[in-house]
Amino acid sequence: MALLVYVENLEGKFKKSSFETLTYGKHLADKLSTTVTALSIGKVEQAELDKLATYGATKILNTSSEKLAVFNNQAYAQVITAAAEKESADTVIILNTFSGKGLAPRVAVRMKAAIVSGAIELPDTSSGFVVKKTAYSSKAYAYVNMLSAKKVITLIPNSYKVEEAAQTAATEVFEPAVDENCFKTVVKEVKRNTDKVLLPDAEFVVSAGRGLKGPENWKMVEELADLLGAATACSKPVSDAGWRPHSEHVGQTGIAISPNLYIAIGISGAIQHLAGVSSSKVIVVINKDPEAPFFKAADYGIVGDAFEVVPKLIEEVKKLKAANA
Ligand code: FAD
Repeated sequence: MALLVYVENLEGKFKKSSFETLTYGKHLADKLSTTVTALSIGKVEQAELDKLATYGATKILNTSSEKLAVFNNQAYAQVITAAAEKESADTVIILNTFSGKGLAPRVAVRMKAAIVSGAIELPDTSSGFVVKKTAYSSKAYAYVNMLSAKKVITLIPNSYKVEEAAQTAATEVFEPAVDENCFKTVVKEVKRNTDKVLLPDAEFVVSAGRGLKGPENWKMVEELADLLGAATACSKPVSDAGWRPHSEHVGQTGIAISPNLYIAIGISGAIQHLAGVSSSKVIVVINKDPEAPFFKAADYGIVGDAFEVVPKLIEEVKKLKAANA
């Protein structure tokens, strides 16, 4: 039994959450007395690839063919399956991101494997192979016993702590044959519409709702987010009204996130909003209504007017940063 971890990169740099999957893979491999092979797809420099050993890879497969420079669901699924076959890996770990959610079922079908998506803890292998995952939009947990010998697990970003492992790993070029049918649609250019932290990958998120009254008041939200190195998000009515782009809409019908810190400003905390953010590690709510439902889900609550509280918060963060500069 061996273990394969697919590590996502963004423009040649591995995401922090990729190191989380690797640490997760390393800890699982230790439990099962096996090794971890990391698979990287796309153009990544050797110095960046070397980081994979630091987080637990015992071997690195590098697929850097030009054709696979841009994410391609079908093609990447074929490469991951081929890597699992090559390494005789019966367990594959993938990040539970947009791309990971698309890849994992394809890989599972190709491998004829069981799949659990949205794992948040290491499997309990004391009796079977039981994986804890979120269920019902993070309102419950499910414990799934994976009965198949082959397994695909997707790990929720920010759910597993990164840990360094003192070891080295050799990098091997891996260029498996990929079906030409996968390339019938070709991406000619990728244009990022922001150079800011991407919401699904963000460790910290500052989010605001209809309580901010209008798009002109988002300056303070952006300032707070910039100071914290956070991504910005919003409630559905805010993006529906065109105050903010739809890419920032979080919730049941938007993006589901699980950052380490979620600051909600002027958001009521409707069940559909909570569905996308309740698995955040720490939730801070700022709302002028003490009865706002969001306070029930909050770790810290500030009852007050956002237009008074947020500027004060910004000043305090600035002072803290200056003191620690
Ligand atoms: P409001 O409900 O209007 O709340 C504004 C809050 O701001 C209030 O709590 C108020 O006390 C507070 N406030 C006002 N002024 C201030 C101030 N000066 N300072 C501080 N606080 C202030 N919503 C989502 O967000 N995401 C989803 O994915 C989503 N999916 C949905 C799917 C369906 C099928 C349906 C029916 C609804 C969905 N909704 C979703 C909508 C959801 O039900 C709520 O209507 C929405 O989340 C409310 O947005 P809000 O909190 O920004 O606005």
